[in-house]
Amino acid sequence: MTNADPQELAKFGELAHRWWDTQSEFKPLHEINPLRLNWIDELSPLAGQRVLDVGCGGGILSDSMARRGANVLGIDLSTKPLKVAQLHALEANTQNVAYQEVAVEELAQQMPAAFDTVTCMEMLEHVPDPSSIIRACAQLVKPGGWVFMSTLNRNLKSFAFGIVAAEYVLKLLPQGTHEYGRFLKPSELARMCRQADLELCASRGMGYNPLTKRYSLNADTSVNYLLACRKLA
Ligand code: SAH
Repeated sequence: MTNADPQELAKFGELAHRWWDTQSEFKPLHEINPLRLNWIDELSPLAGQRVLDVGCGGGILSDSMARRGANVLGIDLSTKPLKVAQLHALEANTQNVAYQEVAVEELAQQMPAAFDTVTCMEMLEHVPDPSSIIRACAQLVKPGGWVFMSTLNRNLKSFAFGIVAAEYVLKLLPQGTHEYGRFLKPSELARMCRQADLELCASRGMGYNPLTKRYSLNADTSVNYLLACRKLA
């Protein structure tokens, strides 16, 4: 049994052909990408690193990390986004990026401690058992290596901004993109990390200003947020 929700995978599969259209449903991912990429690169400089991107989708983050000089493997369980990611790498002539359809738990059995850095962005809120994903990420990273995650907090404000505003009012995302019950509080995510021998090192909130239509990183983790952890040596 895989730790995946077939409906979620199908949802991303149906939209896959528009993944690299910066004005499409994936516009928010394109816009936040430089912010998260720079944050990762500052904490753990990417050049020369072996990086695993879990739930890579069409490869927005994977591709950009490879362009910073990392050797990247992107994995996902939705077939079409992976094909789109591969095609994009060919068209854009991105070096040192590969994509594979494999469950992170399965890869953890095959390649323990093989990666300097593991990223898992905007994905944990789409899976039935996020703690199993985190355990696998922790197995895949080398001792002392970094694991970066991002997801949505669970509270009244994240419901109002993350679902009502984002999907229904501002229409930044298609309706039905997110399910409130799958959002994760930073304290819950931090506990899962600790149980997987990951030490929490840094966190950032991600904000959206509807007037300037710009995203930024800040200290407010009440809606979207990122965590950076290191695997205990
Ligand atoms: N991480 C990418 C894409 C986020 S969209 C980015 O931030 O740019 C969420 C992705 O998670 C989709 O591509 C979806 O197919 C993938 N996903 C959902 N459940 C998954 C699972 N159990 N295993 C691997 N990928 C999964």
